[in-house]
Amino acid sequence: MSYVDEVYELVVAKNPAQPEFHQAVKEVLESLRVVIESDEEAYRKEALLERLTVPERIVQFRVPWVDDKGQVQVNNGFRVQFNSAIGPYKGGLRFHPSVNLGIIKFLGFEQIFKNSLTGLPIGGGKGGCDFDPKGKSDREVMAFCQSFMTELYRHIGADTDVPAGDIGVGGREIGYMYGQYKRISNQYEGVLTGKGLTYGGSLARTEATGYGLLYLTEEMLKCNGKDIAGKTIAVSGAGNVAIYAIQKAQQLGARPVTCSDSTGWIYDAEGIDVALLKEVKEVKRARLSEYAAARPSAEYHEKKAGEHGVWTVKCDVALPCATQNELDLEDAKALVANGCFAVAEGANMPTTLEATEYLQKNGVLFCPGKASNAGGVATSALEMSQNSERLSWTFEEVDSKLQSIMINIFHNLDEASRKYGMEGDYVAGANIAGFLKVAEAMKAQGIV
Ligand code: NDP
Repeated sequence: MSYVDEVYELVVAKNPAQPEFHQAVKEVLESLRVVIESDEEAYRKEALLERLTVPERIVQFRVPWVDDKGQVQVNNGFRVQFNSAIGPYKGGLRFHPSVNLGIIKFLGFEQIFKNSLTGLPIGGGKGGCDFDPKGKSDREVMAFCQSFMTELYRHIGADTDVPAGDIGVGGREIGYMYGQYKRISNQYEGVLTGKGLTYGGSLARTEATGYGLLYLTEEMLKCNGKDIAGKTIAVSGAGNVAIYAIQKAQQLGARPVTCSDSTGWIYDAEGIDVALLKEVKEVKRARLSEYAAARPSAEYHEKKAGEHGVWTVKCDVALPCATQNELDLEDAKALVANGCFAVAEGANMPTTLEATEYLQKNGVLFCPGKASNAGGVATSALEMSQNSERLSWTFEEVDSKLQSIMINIFHNLDEASRKYGMEGDYVAGANIAGFLKVAEAMKAQGIV
């Protein structure tokens, strides 16, 4: 059996009931097959793939807190420090009821390659908790965040592990966690990114993932003879990534017509009104039905099991920006039938393996999240640089660095795909380009 297949079987056997982790490993290993098989015995002797797929450290802990009724609640907290070959662990924290160890491992594994692709010195990690901030009072969210950080603080540090936000973790949660870290460690350091501007945050961090997604998409289209201006775009999600993707798409002259949340989705033929979307989701933290109620051109569709939501809308470009496995084979078929020619992932692994394969086989340009959503972590790394220098850069400075990072990422993965004879396969290109740098650093640092 080939080394790649052997390691995949081992991962499945040793990590039972973690389907998302298996899926992420399978996608990466399949892309790496051509690289590994060119020097299989050397990789096998060093057990490089086993070391790559076993996290350096996993911390799992209890998070007790008291709700507004005086009831004690207990949640499960995680931090997976996956790989520090090229820099301190870096990756977000996710607060969502679906969080479990397998999901955090899949995200941490993806993060290794994403961070490598940015060209910046950051290793891969991810964390989170099965806590649901939705419907909680600010006091409850603070109590939870303080308890979460009371354990996490001993495992992180500006040169060790620097968490950021993800689903359910925005400015409010980062603020509460930073306050608690500072209080118990007696250190004012850049231990978290996504901080508020008054206490060490970077301009353009909030916008970075969505903006970066569009910078890369624009470049991918340009290199394939197309222009993003004038194109109709279907976006899913209505959170941090989706909102700023929609905003930048409009700035580039495109027309985003959809968005979605966990309860339903919007089709707005006149193009999404970003100010209204921000008011509903960022300020009121309300459901998207409120957007439709305030906007005559918008149709609201309640989410129903078995229906395909935003992917049934006719579009040129699709940007899945909500969550993992939200775009399946049926959705991919609907997109192709409707003439969609490009998909770039804003979320992490939003497209199933079957859907990705179908899109690629049907000539759709497809960019995986580890490349197209890397703008968030790249700008987090720029926040770390500013914190180390004790300086703040202007919005334009950060935004222009972000833009060049995203354009470079696209060219790196494009080149890697050509070099290994898979031109246009950006999934393979991203995995290979991300892997080669990490593998070289791992080999140089010996068996650790
Ligand atoms: P947010 O919490 O800000 O927004 C997530 C959005 O997706 C919300 O609109 C939410 O709906 C919706 N959503 C979440 N889970 C589900 C679900 N199971 N079914 C349907 N809708 C769902 O998160 P982000 O925008 O930060 O993150 C979105 C994706 O992007 C994630 O995959 C994340 O890992 C990835 N990502 C984020 C980065 C960042 O910088 N924020 C960086 C790189 C990747 P509702 O409003 O109802 O909760």
